[in-house]
Amino acid sequence: MRLSQLLIPTLREVPAEAEIPSHTLMLKAAMMRKLASGVYIYLPLGKRVLKKIEEIVREEMDRAGAQEVLMPAIIPAELLKESGRWDVFGPEMFKLKDRNDREFCLGPTHEEVFTDLVRNEVKSYRQLPLTIYQIQTKYRDERRPRFGVMRSREFIMKDAYSFDADWDGLDVSFDKMYDAYCRIFDRCGLKYTVVEADSGAMGGKDSKEFMVTSSVGEAVIAYCDSCGYAANEEKAECIVEHESDEEMKPLEKIHTPDVRTIDELVSYLDVKADKFVKTLIYKYKGKIAAVLVRGDREVNTVKLANLLKVNENDIDLAYEETVRSVTGANVGFAGPIGLKGDVLLIADAEVPMMKNIIVGANETDYHLKNANYGRDFKADVVSDIRKVVDGDKCPRCGNPLKLERGIEVGHIFKLGTKYSDALGANYIDENGNEKPMIMGCYGIGLNRIAAAAIEQNHDDKGIIWPMSIAPYHAIVVPVNVSNDAQRNLAEKIYDELSKAGIETLIDDRDLRAGVKFNDADLLGIPIRITVGKKASDNIVELKLRRDENSIELNYDEVVNKVK
Ligand code: ATP
Ligand code: MG
Ligand code: MG
Ligand code: MG
Repeated sequence: MRLSQLLIPTLREVPAEAEIPSHTLMLKAAMMRKLASGVYIYLPLGKRVLKKIEEIVREEMDRAGAQEVLMPAIIPAELLKESGRWDVFGPEMFKLKDRNDREFCLGPTHEEVFTDLVRNEVKSYRQLPLTIYQIQTKYRDERRPRFGVMRSREFIMKDAYSFDADWDGLDVSFDKMYDAYCRIFDRCGLKYTVVEADSGAMGGKDSKEFMVTSSVGEAVIAYCDSCGYAANEEKAECIVEHESDEEMKPLEKIHTPDVRTIDELVSYLDVKADKFVKTLIYKYKGKIAAVLVRGDREVNTVKLANLLKVNENDIDLAYEETVRSVTGANVGFAGPIGLKGDVLLIADAEVPMMKNIIVGANETDYHLKNANYGRDFKADVVSDIRKVVDGDKCPRCGNPLKLERGIEVGHIFKLGTKYSDALGANYIDENGNEKPMIMGCYGIGLNRIAAAAIEQNHDDKGIIWPMSIAPYHAIVVPVNVSNDAQRNLAEKIYDELSKAGIETLIDDRDLRAGVKFNDADLLGIPIRITVGKKASDNIVELKLRRDENSIELNYDEVVNKVK
């Protein structure tokens, strides 16, 4: 492609709203322009980068056995009402009505649409497992669109959904996607960390985020160099040390009367109510399993769901199994009245992770003395404790945790039966029984990958594209286009490289060399071939964007080298 013909209105100055390098550089390098807040136009260079990323994503999805489909961006409200998410999404969802007053939304994500397709078209265990995906535009009316395409209101996502007959199958499908994601981000030249995450509004079990480490990331990652523990800020746990140096005592079953309230229990056990732990929510197998309450706060499932802004279904009432497995003790939690199955935790100090605490339920003899976090019970997620800070002790190995900022580029999680239950996506197993499909879902933001790649690969002159997603591989720069020898040799190199399948630009504009070099650096094309004074001797200069120095070469050597 000739720069003289390319729609590439590079900028010297950028609008003040561009706060971070990728935003500034995407504007300067004429990759994109803003149409409205969080809504962008992609110019030829930007579009090429997106296409490269899209192709990598597609290849890796296909390699993992996923099948590409395309869903509508516009989704009828009924589907989201069936899953209960019509109201959950709130103002982030763009809603609209057709001429007959029927409600729709612009899809912020597509769990319901994929589940709907599969419940209609897949009936038998023989058709499972199935993973399908699409690369498509998503709409989210973000509260704070910012950082250019990094957090926009219209963006391109690859979203995949797996359907399995059982949980083991889901593990296999999930692992395949995990591997595919690693390959995608490796191929895009990104340095990333995989962190444990909460499953958020989608609901679900295992949840992992792929975070590109970057100082401008909106997410915070807590990680441990010693044991590899890494989690996002919401999910991260740390060991909160007890102030006293009291020893951990052996776990002991204690006799309690038929206590119905914490107050009763407090007076029976003679501990101080005002020193109860603060509210703690533990998750187990992705569900909120145990609730540890302070004082005599009345909590029931509905109130809790409101408090936590989660679906009631996400609060697990199977406490017996939960507590047995977290405490390892043979206790049952029945949840007789009112506080349906809540686990009460009573202690005589303020920090929840202290030593020798009493755990139990509002049920006769359902209490244990000397329970210790870590030793006796462990939760998937502990929230509402203070946030982790740099230097906290790692929950896995006790070494200091470090904090770092990250950009969430991908997110994979095990949905389980959340949507198959809600929408009735069932299949018939070998024995003729109807069962819900076990689902997983897997998202990647394509535009965000482009921006994240720039964050990790730039200098004060411009972008430094990794070869795999560069808009062009090479740029040929004749220093003076009115010089015949220079122009002819440049054209010849341009031709040969193009014929060899190398995506090449030629800067055939009649501009000062300095301007052209600046533009080449700004655009970040990985290979630059400068044709200058020595053109008459067939000598040209080869420079890699990421290197300081250039080398002089004979013209035919250059073509071979670049090829
Ligand atoms: P965030 O935490 O940044 O708001 P999310 O958790 O809401 O992202 P998901 O629902 O997990 O996003 O969507 C999958 C992927 O889509 C994200 O990992 C990210 O790469 C991309 N993505 C999400 N929101 C945006 C956005 N507003 N602009 C660009 N890409 C986005
Ligand atoms: Mg979001
Ligand atoms: Mg997120
Ligand atoms: Mg996410």
